[in-house]
Amino acid sequence: MSKKRILLKVTGEIFLAKDGTPTSENVLSLIRQMKELGDAFQFGVVIGGGNFFRGSQHGSKMGVRPSVGHQIGMLATMMNGLMLKDFAEQNDLSAELLCAMPSPEIGKPISQQTINGSLSKGELLIFTGGTGNPFFTTDTTAILRALQIQADEVWKGTSIDGIYTADPKIDPTAQKIERISFQDAIEKRLGIMDLTAYAMAEQHDETIRIFDIFAPDALLKAAQDPHFGSTIFKG
Ligand code: UDP
Repeated sequence: MSKKRILLKVTGEIFLAKDGTPTSENVLSLIRQMKELGDAFQFGVVIGGGNFFRGSQHGSKMGVRPSVGHQIGMLATMMNGLMLKDFAEQNDLSAELLCAMPSPEIGKPISQQTINGSLSKGELLIFTGGTGNPFFTTDTTAILRALQIQADEVWKGTSIDGIYTADPKIDPTAQKIERISFQDAIEKRLGIMDLTAYAMAEQHDETIRIFDIFAPDALLKAAQDPHFGSTIFKG
C-alpha cells in the first residue's frame, strides 16, 4: 500500500513556548508523531519563520524596505528548518533540508529531481526559504510544494483549532466551520490563508485541513479523524 502523502505547513511559532521563550517541546512532539505515522504517511514540511521575523509585520515596524523584510523572513524559515532537521536526526528520522534561497552550506537547492530523490528514500522533506521570492507567503509555498510532492492533502498547523466565521480570539460569537469550499471561504473573506494560496489550491484541487498544531497529538488526530479541524475543498 502506498503511503498517504501530506504537506504539513507549520508556523515558526512551534519553537516558542506560551511565554514567548524558545522551546523544543512542540517540535519534538511533532517528530514523535511523524515517526508513529511513518508506516502509513510520508510528510513534507513547509516551515514558517514567524518566531523570528515576519516581513510585513516586523519589517515595517523596523523600517526596512518591504522586499528586504521579506528576505529576512525567508532566512528565518531556514533557521527553523535547520532546527527541525537537527531534531529529526537526533530522533532517528532521516530528513533532507531544501532551501529556496541557494545556501549550499545549509541545504540542497530545490529541484523536482532532488524532491523525487528524497521521496523515494522515504525522507522527511523540509522546505525552507518560502518560494524564494518576496511578497509571497509560506501558505502559498505550502500549496506549491504540495503540488511538487504530489500531496494527497495539505495540513495547515496553526494556533486556532479550525476555521471560524470571525476571529475567535476577538469575537466570542464566532462559529466554527467544519467544511467550506474555496469559493465560500474567499467570498466570506475568511482570512485563513492568502488569496494566492486559495487560488492555487483550488485550481489544482488540493484539499486543505486546518487545525491546532499545539493540541496534544494533533497529527495523530488529523490522521485518524477526518473531522479534526476544518477542511477547505473544491466545491
Ligand atoms: N516569505 C516571503 N516569501 C515566501 C514565503 C515567506 O517573503 O515565499 C517571508 C514573509 O515575509 C513571511 C516570512 O517569510 O512573513 C515568514 O513566514 P511566515 O510569516 O509565513 O511565518 P509563520 O507565521 O508561518 O511562522
